[in-house]
Amino acid sequence: MIIYGNCGEVFRRVHWNNRGKKSIVWRCVSRLENTGLFCDALTVQESTIEQVLVTAINNTLSGKDAFLSTLQTNIATVLSKENDQTLADIDIRLEELQTQLLKLASSKADYEDVAEETHRERQP
Ligand SMILES: [Zn+2]
Repeated sequence: MIIYGNCGEVFRRVHWNNRGKKSIVWRCVSRLENTGLFCDALTVQESTIEQVLVTAINNTLSGKDAFLSTLQTNIATVLSKENDQTLADIDIRLEELQTQLLKLASSKADYEDVAEETHRERQP
């Protein structure tokens, strides 16, 4: 999820067709819908977002073994647990996890706490 700091709205993935040249771009919702907010956000190519994300993830993970192993465990848990659920259910769960990750992005210490809590809740 991408939130534009200036207007506070989310970016949305858009299939772009510019004079026959197709690409996937992300645009602020304020520029796609009438949200009543003035917005000066530029249109961003998805490939640019991918590059920025990879760099950010690499920076977060580099040299942080504990963070990486917790993340791997959580991903494995979600994949095995949600396997027989419907796509809609998985989407809801992924949204919860995304919200959680957003909050955690500012604090790696908190991430450890939630991981522990998740572990406790799995105990019979
Ligand atoms: Zn905006």
